[in-house]
Amino acid sequence: MDTKILGLHHITAIADQAKRNLDFYTQVLGVRLVKKTVNFDDPGTYHFYFGNEQGDPGTILTFFPWEGIGKGTNGAGMATHIGYSVPEGSLEFWKNRLKEHHIALAENEIFGERLISFTDPDGLQLQFVEPKAKDNRTAWTTKELNDQHALKGFHSITLSLKQADPTLKILTDVLGYSIQGQEGGRYRLITDSIDTANIVDIIEDPNLSYGRNAAGTNHHVAFRVKDDNILMEYREKVLSAGLDITPKINRDYFFSLYFREPGGVLFELATDNPGFTVDEPLESLGTTLKLPKQYENYRSQIEAGLPKID
Ligand code: ZN
Repeated sequence: MDTKILGLHHITAIADQAKRNLDFYTQVLGVRLVKKTVNFDDPGTYHFYFGNEQGDPGTILTFFPWEGIGKGTNGAGMATHIGYSVPEGSLEFWKNRLKEHHIALAENEIFGERLISFTDPDGLQLQFVEPKAKDNRTAWTTKELNDQHALKGFHSITLSLKQADPTLKILTDVLGYSIQGQEGGRYRLITDSIDTANIVDIIEDPNLSYGRNAAGTNHHVAFRVKDDNILMEYREKVLSAGLDITPKINRDYFFSLYFREPGGVLFELATDNPGFTVDEPLESLGTTLKLPKQYENYRSQIEAGLPKID
């Protein structure tokens, strides 16, 4: 069991204005800012991590807010919809709350699960789903969002693809998912290695135009493994499937590998270790700017160059 892919680890998307992104996720959706750092490859840009209290894998949505980048377009070859699990009976509350914030939403049912869908201020497509299976994860609560309403963490990620088969093959043969159902052009894949954040949906539509990566679109989808030994076993499996994959990269809070799946979506594999409490205590996660070692000497210049968010 421990050697399996344990569902989603984190999902990373692109935003435009940092402050607008931070305010929306922490104040309107009420998730916790569990890490405030910079993009390790571009330290002039913030990297925000939002999650539950502990910053558990499977709850972490991260953003690169590239100010001025402008809106992208969702389309083929992308992860297009991010699904959060919400408590049973909370959708009415969320419909009202989103309306109060002047956010348009649609109601839907997919594979027998009720959901609402809407977009964040940059156009990122979100879904709040009342899952059929009970979700026992402990949510981060705020004054306005108690545990009857607060987000539990991820329910699913949806990939939009011109052709499903090559991606289905990687998800099943390499990552250990199995096809649970099909509704029209939509496939639902699930892994039984874990009972939350364990769903990948694929929408197959050969007529879909390709998306363009900028604000409001996904950057990559990270799958979870227990530790860096298992991570390296997956490196061999991905290579054996004929795909290129990066060497192991230290992201300070996890170790990572990246590869592009055949449908065009950038996949990452990321470890549970060492986690977000490696450089600050649980109580104060996300309250101060954390920099990787290589940038610590440039802290004052980096801080001066980052957008104002307070
Ligand atoms: Zn990542």
